[in-house]
Amino acid sequence: MQAGWLSLLRRGGNLLRHSARLVPPSARAGTTTARARPRALSTVPALYFPAFFNTTIFDDNFKSPQKWCSQLSKRNKSTSVNPDLIRPRPELASTSQGHNTLKVLWRDGEADEFPYVWLRDNCQCHACFHTSASSRLLRVANLSMDVRPREVQVSNDGYFLTVVWENGHESTYETEWLNERAFNPRQQSIYNNKYRLRPELWDSDMSQRIPRASFDELMEDDAAVLNLLESMEVLGFTVVSGARPEEGELQRLSDRASHLVASNYGTTFIVKDKKDASNVAYTSEGLDLHCDLVCLHYKPCVQLLHCITQFSGDGGDSILADSHRVAVQMRELHPQKYRLLTDVLVNFRDVGVDNGFQYDIIARRPMISVKANGEIKTVNMSTFGRDSHFGISPKEAIGWYDAYLTFCDLLYRPENHFTFKLVPGEILIMDNLRILHGRTAYEDTVEGERRLEGGFWDWDMMRSRRRGLQKRLGRGVGGQDGCRI
Ligand SMILES: [Zn+2]
Repeated sequence: MQAGWLSLLRRGGNLLRHSARLVPPSARAGTTTARARPRALSTVPALYFPAFFNTTIFDDNFKSPQKWCSQLSKRNKSTSVNPDLIRPRPELASTSQGHNTLKVLWRDGEADEFPYVWLRDNCQCHACFHTSASSRLLRVANLSMDVRPREVQVSNDGYFLTVVWENGHESTYETEWLNERAFNPRQQSIYNNKYRLRPELWDSDMSQRIPRASFDELMEDDAAVLNLLESMEVLGFTVVSGARPEEGELQRLSDRASHLVASNYGTTFIVKDKKDASNVAYTSEGLDLHCDLVCLHYKPCVQLLHCITQFSGDGGDSILADSHRVAVQMRELHPQKYRLLTDVLVNFRDVGVDNGFQYDIIARRPMISVKANGEIKTVNMSTFGRDSHFGISPKEAIGWYDAYLTFCDLLYRPENHFTFKLVPGEILIMDNLRILHGRTAYEDTVEGERRLEGGFWDWDMMRSRRRGLQKRLGRGVGGQDGCRI
């Protein structure tokens, strides 16, 4: 049993590496030779296919970025699941009782360990679990660290485990249910991938393979919606084309993929050059790379910008950068300055009146927010949304500015951002927690010539929709087709 457990840990070792990785630099823009490109979305299946984990996969077919979605579908249809990772209906061989865990031996020779307190907490009987609500009923008063089995039985077919606890309560678990929740890296990686798809950080080469989707397909085809949602999690942005050049298309798209989240600028808002603008976005000035509404503690997750009309001359271009990539570079190249950006709290503020609504919104947060495990959570970057009030000493402020400008130097290196111009009918969707966007200045001789409708989505609802579609379309985690990306 011990040997089985150790071998499982060894085999699962690769699966523990979950942090996002950088896309290796590939052919620069303008290369005319048919050169192999690294496969765009090679990271996520690594959670399923450990043998591929350290392999850069080249794909000669990746020459037409506009066909990204359809190529993605074709590629994945031909992908098979590593049988090593999909255990058929698991059968139990035997169990042994440890001090505070139940050790189980599967008939395939592998072993797992389940804490008694976890088993009792997750009893599936009708008194302890509400099936239609998919929720635990067992009250905490009935849970104790001292809980121990009086008797443990494996059914003859190996498909059920029954535990009779010391107080006489009986719990029966299906082995498939137990296996899915096993405390081993393989099973945990499958759930991790259901939780979130791993982002693939990108550089300016992304301009050559902009992920695209068709508005009409999104209206009719759930698989297209799933492709869009998966792409958003992995690459952080998508350009949808073919929307009607009029207001209201964001609502139609949102009804299919998520829902619109209101802000102090309304449920949707019009970005154009306006007199007495309530926001610098509503001018024809150039805009530094930024994310929107950093002043809100619930900073909008995802931004949509629907190009209704575009400025016909030079200017009005969109600029995009993957701030998580730049933050990772900052951490590697300038660790002390990076610490200042993750530790020093900055005030972000939005004061004004929009459509008669008066607001004074302040959020205090570091420029780079990190998770408990050190991964980048979000970059809070906004030249115009950053307040002039600073709650630190002059000396600390000078140190912070030094770190901030070092970050900006990295961000504006040519390899870390790219520029393109939206055309009417295109909708740019961006992860506002990760992708920074900017705009080149333009001469607005005809007021309102460049006109976009904007709105926001929420990651919780988008991921919820992605999980639902994965399950319904059979593309779910651990499904026979494996994950689609
Ligand atoms: Zn129970």
